[in-house]
Amino acid sequence: MGGAEESASYKGVWVFAEQKDGNLRGVGLELLGVGRRLADRLGEELVAVLLGCGIEELAKDLVAYGADKIILAEHELLGRYTTETYMNVLAELVYKYKPSVLLMGGTLNGRELAPRLAARLSTGITADCTDFDIDKDGHLLQIKPFSKLMAKIKCRTKPQMATAKPNAFKRLKPDWSRKATVIREEVKVSPNETRTRVIEVVKTTNSIYGNVEEADAIVAGGRGLGSKENFKLIHDLADLLGATVAGTRSVVDRGWLPASQQVGQSGKMVTPRLYIAVGISGATYHTVGMQKSEVIVAINKDVKAPIFQIATYGIVGDLFEILPIFMDRLKKEYQEGVDIEQPSEQKPSNPY
Ligand SMILES: Cc1cc2nc3c(=O)[nH]c(=O)nc-3n(C[C@H](O)[C@H](O)[C@H](O)COP(=O)(O)OP(=O)(O)OC[C@H]3O[C@@H](n4cnc5c(N)ncnc54)[C@H](O)[C@@H]3O)c2cc1C
Repeated sequence: MGGAEESASYKGVWVFAEQKDGNLRGVGLELLGVGRRLADRLGEELVAVLLGCGIEELAKDLVAYGADKIILAEHELLGRYTTETYMNVLAELVYKYKPSVLLMGGTLNGRELAPRLAARLSTGITADCTDFDIDKDGHLLQIKPFSKLMAKIKCRTKPQMATAKPNAFKRLKPDWSRKATVIREEVKVSPNETRTRVIEVVKTTNSIYGNVEEADAIVAGGRGLGSKENFKLIHDLADLLGATVAGTRSVVDRGWLPASQQVGQSGKMVTPRLYIAVGISGATYHTVGMQKSEVIVAINKDVKAPIFQIATYGIVGDLFEILPIFMDRLKKEYQEGVDIEQPSEQKPSNPY
C-alpha cells in the first residue's frame, strides 16, 4: 500500500467467512457481529467473502447475520481448503476491491492463511484480538491483553488485518428479512499454482476430555489445586455436573491437563452457561477466554483474587474444604431426587 492518498481509497470492512465441508464456521458469523459495529462506526459496508464450491446457499446466512454484500468465489479447486489457492484468490480480491479492514477467524486454517496473506499484501496483522474499536481518525484499534494491560494496536498499512478466535465475539440475532448484493467473482485457479495437494483427510475424534469450545458447563482448575493428583477433584465435580474439564495455562504447563483444555488468550475462548473456576487467580490472559460465560462461580482462598471481580458468585475459602462439601451436597440432592437441571451436553469420561 502506498501513501495517505492510496490509503484513503481503501474502504469497507471485510470478514472472511470460512466454511468447511459446505458448513459455515461459527467464527465467521461472530466476526460479522463485531464487523457490523465497526462498519456502522465507519459508515462503510460490511462485506462477507465466501470461497468454495457449491456453497452459494450459505450467502443467505451471511446476510441474515449482518453482511451488506457478499463476494462469492466458486471453483472446484476451492472446494477443499489449501492455503496457497485460498491465499492467491483472497489476495486478488483485496487488490481489486481494496478493503480497509479484513477480519479472519483464528481457526486452524485461519491461523495459517491470515499471516501468509498479510505477508503477500505487505500489511500488518494482529492475531487473537479480543475486541475491536475505531479511533477518532477512523483507524481500527485491535485490542488484546498484554500482561496486565489491554493493548490497543494500530496498523499503518491497509488492509488492517486481524484474527479472532472462535467464541471471542457474539453473533447477532439473525434477521432473515435482510437483503444484500451477491457479487460472483470469476476466479482463475490452476492446479499448477499450488505446491500442495490434499491426498487424504483423516478426522480426529474429540479427546476424552470433551470440547471446551462447545461446552454448556465447565469446571476449570488452576494452580491452587497443587498437584496432578489433587486435580482429580475437578474431574469428580465435572462428572457430577455433566460438565467439561478445563484449566489455566499454569496447569497445562505442569502437565495436569492437555493443551486442548486450556482456556484463555493462548488457549480456547469459551462461553458456557456455567463456568466454575477453582483455585484460579483470574489473570487477564485467562479471563479474556471465559469472561463471556453466563454464570461464573469462583472458589479461591484469597479474597483479593482478581477472579472475584468478574464472578457472579464468589466463595472465599480453601477449595479442599469447599469442594468435598459441595460434592456431598450434590450427591445427596441427586439421591433424594431433587430436581437439579443438568446441562444437556453428554458427560465426558473421567480419566482417573
Ligand atoms: C503470553 C501469555 C499468554 C498466556 N495465556 C494464558 C492462557 O491462555 N490461559 C491462562 O490461563 N493463562 C495464560 N497465561 C498465564 C497467566 O498470565 C497466568 O499466569 C495463569 O493464568 C495463572 O494460572 P492460575 O490462576 O492457575 O495460577 P495462579 O495465578 O498461581 O493462581 C492460583 C490461585 O489459586 C488460589 N489458591 C491456592 N491454594 C488454594 C486453595 N487451597 N483453595 C482455594 N484457592 C487456592 C490462589 O489464591 C491463587 O489465586 C499467559 C501468559 C502469557 C505471558
